[in-house]
Amino acid sequence: AKDEGRGIYKFFEMEMGAQLRDRRLLEHDARHAVVRNELSLVYQPQVDIKSGEVTGFEALVRWDHPERGRISPAEFIPVAEDSGLILQIGEWVLRHACQQAAKWQNPLSIAINVSPVQLHAPQFPALVCEILFETGLAPNRLEIEVTETALVKNMSRALSALRQIKALGVKVAMDDFGTGYSSLSNLRAFPFDKLKVDQSFIKSVDSNGQSAAIVQAVLGLGKGLNLPVLAEGVERPEELEFLRGAVCQSAQGYWFGRPQTIDVYEAITSGTTTN
Ligand code: C2E
Ligand code: CA
Ligand code: CA
Ligand code: CA
Repeated sequence: AKDEGRGIYKFFEMEMGAQLRDRRLLEHDARHAVVRNELSLVYQPQVDIKSGEVTGFEALVRWDHPERGRISPAEFIPVAEDSGLILQIGEWVLRHACQQAAKWQNPLSIAINVSPVQLHAPQFPALVCEILFETGLAPNRLEIEVTETALVKNMSRALSALRQIKALGVKVAMDDFGTGYSSLSNLRAFPFDKLKVDQSFIKSVDSNGQSAAIVQAVLGLGKGLNLPVLAEGVERPEELEFLRGAVCQSAQGYWFGRPQTIDVYEAITSGTTTN
């Protein structure tokens, strides 16, 4: 039993060693990702439930590693946050998404994910201002998505950053609402324009009573606070029908469209189709 215990310990030691090595390699390679042009953006439509029309897109970053292929942002964003590299990656994302949206004939909105590390960087509001100026994108077409993790770390700094960004005319959405450090007081303290209900609550919302109760409660909250609600991760028509019945304003998910390179959505961005 003693040997067995040691064996298990050794196994964990090796596993951890491998994970650490992996993380360092990833961090090392990520330093080159921006300059070597390995990053790209895919776009996922956001739809107004009542009209069925696409009102905008969320930009999601992709990294094509020369040897390892496509690496998920869920894997490399945390590594980039720890090393501070997220500042460079985030600036690249912001600039490219705004450049792209400024080219569309249809004046759709463009949503961008902003990491807590970016939001807390003192120069972030100025960077947003600079990129809007540089790309000529109308500020009210840009929406930044922040999670509650970004807010709890340093409340006063986050609040000041959000206020400066909002003063430019840019919109702010709370992402992944209902998960993590969710606190209702954040809704009162921060100047949000939209709530994005996390996809975990939308999955089977039509058949899972608990999910349904939570989504209805969030919709009630949105109504009372005058905040539109977007449901994430809609995959099935039954989920959409539930949301329609519960009077949810907008939705996003594979049912409407996968995150794709923007040329796939050409008809929408050029305004030659209504959806
Ligand atoms: P998120 O902001 O919550 O983005 C939604 C994620 O759900 C995306 O994963 C999207 O591809 C996926 N998704 C969309 N519709 C559906 C659906 O119907 N079903 C399912 N199962 N999934 C769906 P992705 O692109 O892998 O991104 C994962 C996370 O990485 C994002 O979660 C976001 O937190 C982060 N991320 C992505 N791009 C960026 C970025 O440019 N900057 C920062 N800071 N974070 C990013
Ligand atoms: Ca998001
Ligand atoms: Ca989300
Ligand atoms: Ca998420």
